[in-house]
Amino acid sequence: MELLFLGSGAGELWPSPFCPCESCREAVRDRGTHRRNGSCLLVDGRFLFDVPPNTGMAALDLGVSLAELSHLFVTHSHQDHFDPCVLAARGRNPDRPLDMYCNQRLIDLLPVYQKFNRFFNPDSLGLRLHALSPGAVVHSPTPPFTLTALAANHDRTNDEEPLIYIFEIDSKCLLYACDTGWISDESWCVIEQHEYDAVILDCTFHLQRECRNALRKA
Ligand SMILES: [Zn+2]
Ligand SMILES: [Zn+2]
Repeated sequence: MELLFLGSGAGELWPSPFCPCESCREAVRDRGTHRRNGSCLLVDGRFLFDVPPNTGMAALDLGVSLAELSHLFVTHSHQDHFDPCVLAARGRNPDRPLDMYCNQRLIDLLPVYQKFNRFFNPDSLGLRLHALSPGAVVHSPTPPFTLTALAANHDRTNDEEPLIYIFEIDSKCLLYACDTGWISDESWCVIEQHEYDAVILDCTFHLQRECRNALRKA
């Protein structure tokens, strides 16, 4: 399993072009040499976790083609995790479908995106949509992989169910758990049933009060 981080930054990116702090100003003067793009992970050149606004340029920076992309696993609808313009730029691809797994709220939002950008048409873009709820397990025969969706502890506006994922392929197991506070007991119960070759977690929300309380209890 080859993991390539196309980005590991939070929503405002680093440096933030709009931030007046000295750290960001210095990084801008440095022309963003050490910049961190939006969180995005490419696995084996064909499986993509999240598609933030700068996905295409991030791949170019690393000299990586996204032409073989076949599966997209989206955690939630926040703009730093899902940018329909990136998919629109992929162009018409009836012969190269892209299987997209995400929560139902994001699927419900797709017609809204289309209103703003007529080039974002899930049908002509070859998107095959798969709605997942926490606890769902996908066994794909071709290519063979298993994807388990679990609840993240994150913004639930409009009843959205943000997801984290366990991804198993070629006897390797990956936990991808970005943008989550302290993980719920229900999700932990599933997480602890696996042995991992790679665990990807961030600490964006570790200072939230409910996270600190959970850590104290643990
Ligand atoms: Zn700053
Ligand atoms: Zn988010």
